[in-house]
Amino acid sequence: MTELFVLPLGDCCCNYEVVAPGVRDGHRIHIPVSGYLIKLDDDSLVLVDTGMSRLHISDPELTWRGTPAENALIPTMRPEDSLLFRLAQLEVAPQDIDYVVNTHLHFDHAGNNDLLGAATFFVQREQYEQAKDNPSFPNQYWNLPVLSYELLDGRARLFDALDILPTPGHCEGHQSVALDLPETGSVVICGDAVYCQDNYEHDAWDGQADPERARESALMLQSVADEREAMMIYGHDVEQRRTLRLAPSGSYR
Ligand SMILES: [Zn+2]
Repeated sequence: MTELFVLPLGDCCCNYEVVAPGVRDGHRIHIPVSGYLIKLDDDSLVLVDTGMSRLHISDPELTWRGTPAENALIPTMRPEDSLLFRLAQLEVAPQDIDYVVNTHLHFDHAGNNDLLGAATFFVQREQYEQAKDNPSFPNQYWNLPVLSYELLDGRARLFDALDILPTPGHCEGHQSVALDLPETGSVVICGDAVYCQDNYEHDAWDGQADPERARESALMLQSVADEREAMMIYGHDVEQRRTLRLAPSGSYR
């Protein structure tokens, strides 16, 4: 039976305008970072996003020290927030992961790609090309010769229960995931195409690289979710996080 585990992978301290400009500007928040482990019918394991590197546990400034983002984005990770710890709680070793879908290659979504050498990684070609050698997408976490990337061009049905939906705007070639579950029904894993519910409620997209395309992508996701009566999981929503069933105790089937 297909099953989805939401893995809590730490948080990132930033101003509210990073996720929803014009709503609570200047307000400091801790946005949650997540990965999603999906166990497919045939027992193969898919991970959607790999979170922030476990190296931030001992050195929060590791990625952004000396850059303009240094004080704008401060990772906060406890030892139990590492991908390895969360997988181990589910009795999964990193080499057991068969496939990884990176919604995109920012440091909080691809930070542990280096641990998953046995997997095939699915990334949109446009995202891969934008991110390569680009310091906004710290390459040390994902651009490694030992990792095998399969580059996608647009929409794709990867597995019976799993569709890839291109959602550009947050970056070039951002992608989201629609998953069918036997009991819960459909789930849309937005990634950073939608940071939080406030983006919809306040029509607030200026935190995105290309606000107009981001808005179009988010509206498309909303209509897919409406059609499928799907639950949407936003990329970094503080309020929504409190309502989700989190691994290891909770899951969606
Ligand atoms: Zn993010």
